[in-house]
Amino acid sequence: MTDERLAVILRSNRLKKTTRRMAVARMMLDSGRTATPAQVWSALRPKLGRLGLPSVYRILEELTEAGLLTRIVRPEAESELCYAACTADRKHHHHHLVCTGCGRVEVVDCSFRRLEESRIRRRTGFKVTGHTIQVQGICPACGDKGN
Ligand SMILES: [Zn+2]
Ligand SMILES: [Zn+2]
Ligand SMILES: [Zn+2]
Repeated sequence: MTDERLAVILRSNRLKKTTRRMAVARMMLDSGRTATPAQVWSALRPKLGRLGLPSVYRILEELTEAGLLTRIVRPEAESELCYAACTADRKHHHHHLVCTGCGRVEVVDCSFRRLEESRIRRRTGFKVTGHTIQVQGICPACGDKGN
């Protein structure tokens, strides 16, 4: 994603194009991997000077609200906030595939869908209105290292 496109997305979400917001978004988009607020903070502090950890928390939430980032749950640290860039269209229902080795995040299509929803409805009487699924695995690059 270009800086121009990034700026347009920020503007359409009523977020000013600040050096900090741009730097956090750029870092997340360029890496394509998961990062905790503390990791973002230590990576950007040398470049951005007096950047506080609370600001990083806030910016990561703002960028998530703007649809540039998504929250990722890591099975090994479920209570810790973690984010990754996701530029997939939010209107298009999808899931995130996360490498537990390197934190690389990819988008996958949903295979849950209507058959399972109607099964659940028959069994429980619930009308299913949505679901949240995150898939974990080992990416090809990390798999090769293990062999
Ligand atoms: Zn996504
Ligand atoms: Zn990996
Ligand atoms: Zn789904």
